[in-house]
Amino acid sequence: MINEGLLTAAYIIASILFILSLSGLSNPETARRGNIYGMIGMFIAIFAIIFGEVAQYEVLIVVMVLGAIIGITVAARVQMTGMPQLVAMLHSFVGLAAVLVGFANYIGPEAASHITGTEKIIHEVEIYLGVLIGAVTFTGSVIAFGKLQGIVGSRPLLLPARHFLNLGLALACIWFGVEFINAESVSAGLIPLGIMTVIALIFGVHMVMAIGGADMPVVVSMLNSYSGWAAAAIGFMLGNDLLIITGALVGSSGAILSYIMCRAMNRNFLSVIAGGFGTTAGSVSSGGDDEGKEVVSTTVEETAQLFQDAKSVIIVPGYGMAVAQAQHPVSEVTKKLRDKGITVRFGIHPVAGRLPGHMNVLLAEAKVPYDIVLEMDEINDDFPKTDVVLVIGANDTVNPAAQDDPNSPIAGMPVLEVWKAETVVVMKRSMASGYAGVGNPLFFKENTRMLFGDAKASVDAILGNMK
Ligand code: NDP
Repeated sequence: MINEGLLTAAYIIASILFILSLSGLSNPETARRGNIYGMIGMFIAIFAIIFGEVAQYEVLIVVMVLGAIIGITVAARVQMTGMPQLVAMLHSFVGLAAVLVGFANYIGPEAASHITGTEKIIHEVEIYLGVLIGAVTFTGSVIAFGKLQGIVGSRPLLLPARHFLNLGLALACIWFGVEFINAESVSAGLIPLGIMTVIALIFGVHMVMAIGGADMPVVVSMLNSYSGWAAAAIGFMLGNDLLIITGALVGSSGAILSYIMCRAMNRNFLSVIAGGFGTTAGSVSSGGDDEGKEVVSTTVEETAQLFQDAKSVIIVPGYGMAVAQAQHPVSEVTKKLRDKGITVRFGIHPVAGRLPGHMNVLLAEAKVPYDIVLEMDEINDDFPKTDVVLVIGANDTVNPAAQDDPNSPIAGMPVLEVWKAETVVVMKRSMASGYAGVGNPLFFKENTRMLFGDAKASVDAILGNMK
């Protein structure tokens, strides 16, 4: 066992490293360093807890080895496109842990029978809130996993009087909270705690089921935030300062990310939580005006020629680039065009793909220089001055219906205005819609050419056709 002073020092160092890690992760150029800080911080934290707080090593070793085997296997196997689901699943574990630790803390042998008065009330509030946030995070994340994996439909489930249902559930939680704190004994307190847990589990399911496809980015980051608050609540229950700090860091950074996502989608946080986005009149396919219209297809040869004749090109990647794993040939095409003196830049929508920063990670992996990867706000005014835009597997994020059709389910969401360029080439496999399930009038515009096929195969072929 290491002594108290050393333990505190280790906690402080780990906390500082976590803060440095977050600040590093805010910029692609420092993200690798940020990750290393985070890993060292976590190593110190685990080491300090093992040698500073744990008295019995047998169980710990067994669960750590088991957990490490499962974690390494899952992480090694997961495809980049499956990452959002994995993240949602990991959030659900934090939620479940908070529920289990909360119950264990209440009924366990070291249950705080020695504390009384205000201290006891505070401890019980910590347990109650920890279990509440944990249960909502658990089922909410499981449903988010289902939606991202396609097991649960992405359309919002709108129960009649759902706001009243939510209000009723919230009031019931407050009521049972009072019952819990006033309970005479542990066995009496277990009843309101158990009932609240069931209510919170139902609330988690209902909350995420009511959220439509296009709002999922906000939900994923919101659940990230909840998982942080759940961890902080465990920290309070166990009196562990490091867990409180780490949980608060995750909770607040997740909340800030949710805010950024809301702004990117021109949505108000409360209306996202209230659910129902993606069901406005006109509903799922905005096909309307485009019915009977024909799209114009193009070929790999034509696209390669178009590129080589251009002075400026903007590439707009989306989820399809991640599915096809086309980032490496895209990077090579970029290099070839730049070598010919053609200006090539990337336009990244804040919710492109299925994870915040999804496209940036893929492009960084393929060694595309950071300085030509621009955010939507930085590049949106440049489309009218651009010769060719290549849309690779993006759909919702380049949908003009968001601006032109007030009845569209994505009306009001800022999009990349690719149609303003001279020519737009859209790479996708079919006429299928994107995640929000909305038809896309971009495909029918006069200056749009559709290049059907798997994005990687198409980009590889373009590369082969370039002189
Ligand atoms: P979309 O999901 O709108 O569209 C992706 C397109 O890629 C599809 O239309 C599909 O068409 C095409 N595609 C799929 N596989 C391939 C392939 N192998 N080769 C070529 N094309 C392919 O993508 P966007 O990135 O534009 O938008 C992201 C959407 O996901 C938004 O609605 C956003 O709200 C949502 N979302 C984002 C999250 C985030 O945090 N970023 C989290 C959760 C949801 P086809 O099948 O015809 O090939």
